[in-house]
Amino acid sequence: MSNLTPDDVLRALKTVVDPDRNKDVVALGVIQGLAVKDGHVSFALEVAPEEGRAKEPLRLAAEKAVLALKGARSVTAVLTAHKPAANTAPPRRDAGHHTEGAPRAGAPERQGPAGVKAVIAVASGKGGVGKSTVAVNLAVALNRLGRKTGLLDADIYGPSIPRMLGLHGKPTSKDGKKLQPMAAWGLKAISIGSLIDEDQPMIWRGPMVMTALTQLIYDVEWAPLDVLVVDMPPGTGDAQLTLAQRVPLAGAVIVSTPQDIALIDARKGLAMFKKTHVPVFGIVENMSTFVCPNCGHESHIFGHGGARETAAKLGTDFLGEIPLHIAIRETSDGGTPITAREPDGPQAKAFIALAERIAQKLDAGDTRPAPRIVME
Ligand code: ADP
Repeated sequence: MSNLTPDDVLRALKTVVDPDRNKDVVALGVIQGLAVKDGHVSFALEVAPEEGRAKEPLRLAAEKAVLALKGARSVTAVLTAHKPAANTAPPRRDAGHHTEGAPRAGAPERQGPAGVKAVIAVASGKGGVGKSTVAVNLAVALNRLGRKTGLLDADIYGPSIPRMLGLHGKPTSKDGKKLQPMAAWGLKAISIGSLIDEDQPMIWRGPMVMTALTQLIYDVEWAPLDVLVVDMPPGTGDAQLTLAQRVPLAGAVIVSTPQDIALIDARKGLAMFKKTHVPVFGIVENMSTFVCPNCGHESHIFGHGGARETAAKLGTDFLGEIPLHIAIRETSDGGTPITAREPDGPQAKAFIALAERIAQKLDAGDTRPAPRIVME
């Protein structure tokens, strides 16, 4: 146990002076979202957008000052910036629909990784619905559409991207600071799984995991990228919530199977993104229709159309159906995604149609706030 308190942290931060303004960061009022839990500290430093990463030394100094405190086990400090008023980029949220929980005017915008145009999340309310399979094939399909795409496997509970992309070894670093992403099927990819020993039990505490994940977003040479697809951890717990809060997501894709039980969890996913003001692109129904590999006969093992109905009920978009087909499983598990193996086949086409919808949404800046969810 650690007795470190927010006041201790603030006292340490008072010693960190911004040389450009000759005042300490507490006096300047730039410390936001300070959280201290059992010695794990996180906070944001708000900077002007034009200062951007030029304030990195100040961020490092703040981290160092806090880490030097007795009882400090880990420190995560991130830079955030207000969006400039004259920004020509499409608005992140529909200002006309100022829904409950929508961001306050002037709320700080989180900065994305440098040189990455959009970060999107692929999420699910529970494990085993094919979230990683969708993330991988969506990423390959976006790349086929001509978008430079990266894939970050943030699934701390069961990182499966190395297996699905056939990645071996560990990422390297040229300068000892930034990690080089690995390459597979035209993608830049990094998995939390490549950085941990598979035999090591995953008993990381939340904040430590978050530090590792934040590094995978900000300290990897992603640039230049049009889209970075993040395969989120399944579920809607603290790790997922923090990730959604820390990373400036352009939108989220929620994967569900057609069963009621999975759909109840999908609603929780929607609610989580609403809470963190992340726009939801919509719901994908995976394992939608079973196509017999022998005779091509279609049957609906898990029911059918549940995700379409749920999306309509919740006022979010239905993004499409991915069939349940053995070729998808075999190619995923064999390290060659179906979108790379048979890009013109019917299964790959379902993923390409999904990628087209996402690409359209990104281009249109379709970033409506997540719909209001009522838990039943
Ligand atoms: P999650 O990331 O939600 O835990 P995975 O993507 O790891 O789920 O998928 C779980 C298993 O289901 C994997 O073996 C995967 O190959 C298989 N799978 C996922 N989607 C499909 C599909 N549409 N057709 C056939 N198998 C699938």
